[in-house]
Formats: sequence, structure tokens, C-alpha cells
Amino acid sequence: LREDEDEAYFSSYGHYAIHEEMLKDKVRTESYRDFAYLNPDVFRGKVVLDVGCGTGILSMFAARSGARKVIAVDQSDIVYQAMDIVRSNNLQEVITLIKGRIEDVDLPVEKVDVIISEWMGYFLLFESMLDSVLYARDRYLADGGSVYPDSCSLSLAAVGDERRHRERIAFWDDVYGFGMACMKRAVVPEAAVEVLDSGTLISDPAVVRTIDCNAVCVSELEFETDFCLKITHNTLCTAIVGYFDIFFDKNCENKVTFSTGPQCTKTHWKQTVFLLENPIPVQTGEELNGRIALRKNRKDPRALLVSLSVRDVKQTYSLQ
Ligand code: SAH
Repeated sequence: LREDEDEAYFSSYGHYAIHEEMLKDKVRTESYRDFAYLNPDVFRGKVVLDVGCGTGILSMFAARSGARKVIAVDQSDIVYQAMDIVRSNNLQEVITLIKGRIEDVDLPVEKVDVIISEWMGYFLLFESMLDSVLYARDRYLADGGSVYPDSCSLSLAAVGDERRHRERIAFWDDVYGFGMACMKRAVVPEAAVEVLDSGTLISDPAVVRTIDCNAVCVSELEFETDFCLKITHNTLCTAIVGYFDIFFDKNCENKVTFSTGPQCTKTHWKQTVFLLENPIPVQTGEELNGRIALRKNRKDPRALLVSLSVRDVKQTYSLQ
């Protein structure tokens, strides 16, 4: 991405509300904290790079866990707050803050032992910030070093929620006495970011992709694959839900994991809902087969296009 094209992205992280929301997301922040504090062997005496440090929270966890040196980089103006925060917690001897894009800055070290980052977006890959973490890995990670979180998975499940489907689709038949049926076609391709009630799930989940952050390359972040959802109810399938799970696993004596799925405590990522314009009747025990393709939106590389084919009906959804 060209730097000027990316200004809007970085200025969005210059607003403080988003950092407040992330810090208050306990599932997210406590997972990073537990990973750091419960696995001091990963950090003790090590040089750590924090890609996209925001307020500096992950760098401070790493420092408290025994890192020798932490280099924290962020292109957004939030880094000026991080400078204050690090000083007021008396960690300025350990943590060095640098303003800039990780792709552009000069780091004061050749190599690092550990890279930490919270790069995940809606449906995991929205925002494409993982590309920057992989850049940092390939450029700065020493042989034998590790990126954390080290693995993640993307899952889909079938949803049966006729009430919600009516609210989103049948709604357009009568809007204050006017017909707006053309809007049905128009709203479906916009993937919705919503928290689902786990009671609306009507299949077992299926993992459609796992990502090893220490091995994957950028081109593999676009993919296409078949999936199979084992149906658990006789009902109508009204949507497909997507979510991700995160793992701190490699070399960890105490592994830490969290899920953004509908069966777990909600996070600020919520879930991603792909509404089916025409619900599909399904039966307990049957397998609902489909195919998913995930691509970057060429017009806006930080946005995603997700194509879902379910029972031969194909729909492309945008996530922005
Ligand atoms: N680590 C913090 C903030 C996570 S949000 C926390 O866990 O609370 C992601 C941050 O990464 C944002 O502040 C954003 O400005 C920064 N960022 C994203 N891409 C970047 C890049 N290529 N170079 C530098 N900073 C980046």
C-alpha cells in the first residue's frame, strides 16, 4: 500500500475511542496479558518487537514479563500517548517507541527474538494488517525467533434465525407504507458485523482456514476452499456466520487461546454474518456443502471480498 493511500487507515487509530474499546475488550487484552505473564520463558532476556503498539499495552506486558528490550512501532498519533504512558510507568529504559510504518522505519537493532502484535480485524483478515506483521517477520525476526499469536483459524457455521432474516429482508416490502424491494438485493452483499445468540446456530462449526503466523506468506492470505457444515436442526438456514480463534501456543508452557465465536464471551470483533437472500431448508444430520473464496478488494486493499456458494447459489459479500 502507498503511504498516502493509507492515511485514512492510520488516522482512524489516532482516535482514542478505538484504543479504549480494544483495552476494555477483556477477552482480547487478558489473553495477551496471560500469554506474557504465564510464559516468562518466552520473554526473559529477549529483544521484542511490538508491531502497531497503540497505547503500548503489549510492550508493557512484555517488559513486565522480563524482556530485555522492547521496540514498539506505530504509525498513528497514538504513539505520542504511548510515549507518555511508558514514561509514567517507568519503563523507558526497556521500551523504545518509534513513530512510523513498520515498512519504513529504521529499527535500532538488526534482529529481534519475538514479535508481538494485535493485528486481527473483522473476520480475522479485514484491514490486512497481518501483511505488515509478516513483513516485520521476514525482515527482523532472528533464526529461531517466534511471532505471537502464532496461529489462528477461521470458522463458519450455519445460522437459522428467521426473525432476524425478516428484519433484514422482508422489512423492505413495506417501509412506512412504501415498497422498497430492490433494497433486498442491495443489502445482502454487505456482510454484517453483529453478535449472534448461540441459540441460532444450526450446525457444527467448520474450520475453513488455519494460519501459521511463523510460516504463512502474504499470497496465501487469499484463498478458496470447500466446506461442509453438519446440520443439527430441522429448520431454515438463513445465514452463514464467520469468526476466528487465536492461539498462543509455540514454546508456551501455558498455552493461551481465545475465540470470537457466538458460543463464547463477546468481543469487539463480534461475528461476521453473511445473510442468505433465500433461506435454505435443512435437516438434522445432513451436510450442507459450500465453497468460500476470500480476496482483497482491488479497489480498497484493506477491505475484503468473501464469495460464498451454498447449494449452488453464489453470493459475493464485501466487508468494509
Ligand atoms: N497493540 C495495541 C494496538 C492494536 S491496534 C493494542 O493491543 O491495544 C493496531 C495498531 O497498529 C494501530 O494503532 C495502528 O496504527 C497500528 N498499525 C497498523 N499497521 C501498521 C504499520 N504497518 N506500521 C505501524 N503501525 C501500524
